[in-house]
Parts: sequence; C-alpha cells; structure tokens
Amino acid sequence: MNSDPENTYDIVIIGAGPAGLSFACCLAGTDLKIVMVERSPLEILENPPEDGRDIALTHSSEQALKDLGMWDDFPEDQLGLIREAKVLNGRSAYVLHFDSAKTSADYLGHLVPNYIIRRAAYNSVKDCKNISIIAGVEVLDVTTNITEGSVTLSDGRTLHSKLVIAADSRFSTTRKKMGIGAQMQDFGRVVIVCEMTHTKPHNNTAFECFHYDQTLAILPMYGDKSSVVVTLPADKSDRLLAMSPTEFAADIQRRFGAQLGDMTLVTKLHPYPLIGVYADKFVTTRFALMGDAAVGMHPVTAHGFNLGLKGARTLASEIKAALANGTDIGAASVLGRYQAKHRRVARPLYVGTNALVKLFTDTTVPGRILRGAALRLGNILPPVKSRIVQQLTEIDV
Ligand SMILES: Cc1cc2nc3c(=O)[nH]c(=O)nc-3n(C[C@H](O)[C@H](O)[C@H](O)COP(=O)(O)OP(=O)(O)OC[C@H]3O[C@@H](n4cnc5c(N)ncnc54)[C@H](O)[C@@H]3O)c2cc1C
Repeated sequence: MNSDPENTYDIVIIGAGPAGLSFACCLAGTDLKIVMVERSPLEILENPPEDGRDIALTHSSEQALKDLGMWDDFPEDQLGLIREAKVLNGRSAYVLHFDSAKTSADYLGHLVPNYIIRRAAYNSVKDCKNISIIAGVEVLDVTTNITEGSVTLSDGRTLHSKLVIAADSRFSTTRKKMGIGAQMQDFGRVVIVCEMTHTKPHNNTAFECFHYDQTLAILPMYGDKSSVVVTLPADKSDRLLAMSPTEFAADIQRRFGAQLGDMTLVTKLHPYPLIGVYADKFVTTRFALMGDAAVGMHPVTAHGFNLGLKGARTLASEIKAALANGTDIGAASVLGRYQAKHRRVARPLYVGTNALVKLFTDTTVPGRILRGAALRLGNILPPVKSRIVQQLTEIDV
C-alpha cells in the first residue's frame, strides 16, 4: 500500500446514491475507514430534491431499512401502503388481482418517495466516525492492482484503498474504466412520473394498466394522493410533457376511467429514459459494482432499489465475515462470494422483468392474445401468484 495516510482508506465508494449510502450504512461502526465520493454538492445530499420516483419497498427492504435505522427517518405522512394490486390488459375488464388479505401478510409493501430514502440514507451515515463524504467532487479515473485501488478525483487528489466500490448509477463510467462490459437494453420508451391528488380514495390499491403501446401505473401514497407512472414510446413523450397541468390531469383521469374522481397534478412531470443494464460481471480485482451500476432494472416490477439494497447487504456481510476472520476485505474470494450470491438473485429478476416488458408492450395480435392468456394463467395458477406475493412480502434472514 502507498505511503499517503491522509488519502488512504479501507474502502472508497464512488457515488452517494441510495445504494452507495445504504452499503456504507451497513458498515457503520466497524473498524473500516471508508470514504464516499459524490459529484453532487453537499446541499443536495442533505436535502435531495423531489424527483418524482416513488419507491415500492418489499417487506425484506423494510426490515433492512429498520435494521439500518433509516426507517425511523421516514415521516409517517409520507408512507403509502399497498394492500392490493390489480393488473389490467388494454380495455378488457379482466383483472389479475393480488390481495394481501388472501395471504399471511397485512400488506404487499410500502411506497416511499425516493428523495426521502436518499435523505434518510445520508442522515444514517453523516455522523458515523468511520465514514467520511467528499461531496461536489467527481471521480475521473480508477485503477486497481493486486495490492490496492487508486481513485483519481476532479479536485486533483488520488485516494488509495484496499477495495473500490462503484455505485455510480446504471450509466457508470467507472464500470467502463475498469473494463467491465454490460448488456444494455434500450426499451425505446420513456417513463414519466409525477404525483397527483384525487377526490376518490385509492383504497390502498395499486393499478398497472397495460394499454397498447402505453402503460399507466397508479400507486397509492399517503392520503388521497397517488404516484402516477406513464410509460410510452420515446417519440410520443414530448406531447405529454408539453401539456399544461390541467390537460395532463384530464388525460390521466380519462385513461383511468375516472376511478379516482377528479385528479390534480401536484408535482412536476419527471421523464426518465428506459434503459436496462446488466453488468457482465459484478467484480474484478479489488473492485465491485453496487446498485444500478451492477443491475439497472426496468421500473415496472419495482425491483431496482430493493435489489440494490440486497446487494449492499450481501457484500457488507461478506466483508464483515472477512474482518472477523482476519482476511483481506478486497480478496478475490470475498468479492467472488458476493458476485455469486448476488447474480443468483439478480439474473432471474432481470430476465423475468424484461420478458414481462416485452409481453406487455407487444402490439401485434399474437402478442395481445398471449398477454390476455398470461393474465388469466396468473389468476388461475395459484403457484404463480403466490410466488409473486411471496417475493414482495418475505423477509430475508
Ligand atoms: C421512475 C422510476 C421508478 C422506480 N421505482 C422503483 C421502485 O418502485 N422500487 C425500487 O426498488 N426501485 C425503483 N426504481 C429504481 C431506483 O430508483 C434505483 O434502483 C436506485 O435509485 C439506484 O440507486 P443507485 O444508488 O444505484 O444509483 P443512483 O441513484 O443513480 O446514484 C448514483 C450516484 O452516483 C453519483 N455519481 C455518478 N457518477 C459519479 C462520479 N463519476 N463521481 C462521483 N459521483 C458519481 C451520482 O451523482 C449519484 O448520486 C425506480 C426508478 C425509476 C427511474
């Protein structure tokens, strides 16, 4: 290891998004000297802006966030509760119905705005003695060898560490710099998200309506408010984004058959291009990918952050085991175990989600028939439904 103690750490984490911060939080209070490098300024970490994303959290994530002390930071009046979910196909009245009342769980999951998760994640690490944050500075380069990693920053510093973690988004530049390729799937679609209030109650029910070429998801937030997610072909998104708040509200209300009464737009419209990413490998010498940098999911199945959090916990527990055994935390064996475990969980979710997207955006006649059949099969075959509900409600130990 080099002889620059001030800039030498056990772990450098690139990116203080929800995944990077959650990973750091898992290692709070250990003997590891950790630094996070984030290009956004500190004010943004302290007070992240509303970004339209509302994150559906599984029971497993809820338990993890409670264990990490983040859950207490979520204001009660910002927690949406999902008890039922209904999937509709085009104009057909047929519904695939998931109901927590028919299971041992009280609810399917909670819905929490992304900026609240980001703020809670930052608060959970900001006072930790073993974790420091360099904000407003970009990582320009990363190299590693068998003894250490070196991370070059935009302010001229070079940090050294036993292990480098890249949690720098699905468009990770450091993944590329480290020579790790990724399967990227451009869905050719844009998702537009916002929040709307309404005059009729949502009864804690989430709706996913697959119209031909356009998907509308309405997810229950606290009170008479819902998160609205419209997915449509990229070339059609400008028209929607150009609408006035009243025009947009009228459009959503009409598409949803006015089931929630009069609707009012209460946030900006936030567009996100839909690109799925699956890294060819999650680790290389003294380097590991985390969160969306490892797997960037299509949001339709709401797995992204849930999966990132799971990965963060998996790697943190391998590192803690290495610490307990006196093993090098950046050893290939430690990283290899994380990779094997996380890929086993991530691959089926990634492939399954992409197959679902394909099925529900196929506008050909056979595609529509297949989609109708899939919904009916989902209802008829109890194992399919119970597996999906189990995935949402089970808690990892
Ligand atoms: C519309 C939408 C809805 C979603 N809904 C759900 C849901 O219901 N459930 C769910 O689980 N997930 C959902 N997700 C996914 C979830 O938002 C992401 O999985 C999660 O935010 C990824 O976190 P991350 O920390 O990996 O990456 P990011 O949030 O992208 O953070 C990466 C961080 O790295 C920083 N960074 C990047 N490059 C550098 C650099 N070179 N130097 C320094 N810093 C850098 C960035 O500034 C950023 O802060 C949704 C996503 C979208 C778009």
